[in-house]
Amino acid sequence: MTDSANGLNFIIVGASVAGLGAAIALKASGHNVLVLEKASQLGGTSSIPSGCARVPPNGTKILFDWGLGAEMKRNGAIMEGIAAYRYEGKESGRDFLGIHLWDLELLTEARGNFMLFRHENLLRILYDTAIKPVGHPQDDTGQNVRPPRVTVLFGAEVVEVDCETCTITLRSGEIHGGDAIIGADGARGMVRRTLLQEEDVFSRKDDALTGLALYGAVIPKSLATNDPALTSFYDHPQSTVSMGSNRGAMTFIGKDRDIILWVYTPDSSQDGSWDEEADQKLTDVIGPSDAGLWKLATLAGPPTCVRIQDHHKLESWVSKSGRVVVLGEAAHPSPPASLHTYSVALEDGAFIGKIFSHSQNRDRIPQFLHAFQEHREPRCSRIRDIEMRYIGEITLQDGGMQAGRDAAMRASHAAGRDVMDVPGSDGEQLLDETRMVFDYDPTDDADEWWMAWGRYHRD
Ligand SMILES: Cc1cc2nc3c(=O)[nH]c(=O)nc-3n(C[C@H](O)[C@H](O)[C@H](O)COP(=O)(O)OP(=O)(O)OC[C@H]3O[C@@H](n4cnc5c(N)ncnc54)[C@H](O)[C@@H]3O)c2cc1C
Repeated sequence: MTDSANGLNFIIVGASVAGLGAAIALKASGHNVLVLEKASQLGGTSSIPSGCARVPPNGTKILFDWGLGAEMKRNGAIMEGIAAYRYEGKESGRDFLGIHLWDLELLTEARGNFMLFRHENLLRILYDTAIKPVGHPQDDTGQNVRPPRVTVLFGAEVVEVDCETCTITLRSGEIHGGDAIIGADGARGMVRRTLLQEEDVFSRKDDALTGLALYGAVIPKSLATNDPALTSFYDHPQSTVSMGSNRGAMTFIGKDRDIILWVYTPDSSQDGSWDEEADQKLTDVIGPSDAGLWKLATLAGPPTCVRIQDHHKLESWVSKSGRVVVLGEAAHPSPPASLHTYSVALEDGAFIGKIFSHSQNRDRIPQFLHAFQEHREPRCSRIRDIEMRYIGEITLQDGGMQAGRDAAMRASHAAGRDVMDVPGSDGEQLLDETRMVFDYDPTDDADEWWMAWGRYHRD
């Protein structure tokens, strides 16, 4: 066997969804990847309890394409739609607005399912796939060459990134260098901060608070399944959204039958970290709610909390040196618990992997990384705007607009339609947006760039 295939050497900071996804895709394109993760084990740094990861069809099709169908089936639940309620109830009951089921034709066109995983299970699937050895590739002369590989180092916190030399320094003092560095270290990560500093942004105070906070909790099935106050949460389609005045809630039933609960409330403080109010009880913050939500709050353990922020926009996802790039939350932070966070992180990885399948020439790295931002940024920013609008819709203050929204939903339900299937331009806009989000294939997008621009360059 001769030494390694001619693959490039990538360093990825962060072994979460974006980092592991990119590692899988780059390995498939013949490159070597060293993933550095500050936690001592997979998914282990944060105080966030692993709640649910919703992955719409644009994300699940990537997982299917990576051959993970059986693992997904074993670990994930299919989400068929969502039932809508008012946050405040009707006397002792819940105030039902209607149901929205995902259009089967839309899902078939999109080539994916709508699925729900536990965060840690999705990470495990990605990690196992990333580190799995590949077969025995051969070079042009038919000789076996060393297969591309992914190595993941835990307890490896990156404390400095040098964009010029393409090296990183770990807290231990160790230095690692590569052909390119990918920052998949989240919205508060070191690599994102390094690029923000290149743009003279030095503090996260530039992130604006939106006035809303999100609390999350998991209610174990042992407490929940036999309680008559909670049956509506288990009713088909087993996901609910409850809409109140400056408040909202969502629930999901995972494969393990636990209830995952997220509650949006007015933000009462001024900071932005996940666990600032970890000692608070959900019953202290849930406010006026129906009997079902209140019951969930009484059964939940200490919730996690995060303020919903509008993160400062990073103008360039690529360093001035052209060798350091950010992806996932580090590039385009979304509001917490967003519907699309996981799928866009997977899309980023699949795009990067595909674009680097075309060349192993180190000199082309800056061009490829700029193409990545050029293609991905408009989509990610559009999806982020949709997410913010969605949060705004479910937490609409009581008044004329809220009354109109509720009346339209009730009318759709009474007419036998899905609640979000509102006749007229709003309904059409929703359908167009859903198609735009679900139908996207990042490898097609990368190929489009390659066919239009990339291939005309001589290696
Ligand atoms: C433990 C955990 C649990 C979560 N649970 C949920 C959930 O239940 N529902 C939900 O909607 N979202 C959840 N999230 C957020 C969600 O996972 C992310 O939005 C999604 O994974 C895509 O983000 P990402 O991969 O770009 O970055 P992130 O998931 O934020 O991952 C960043 C990774 O980089 C690592 N890292 C950061 N700084 C450094 C450094 N200096 N050196 C080395 N490594 C570093 C972090 O430890 C982390 O593993 C969770 C995130 C974490 C970390």
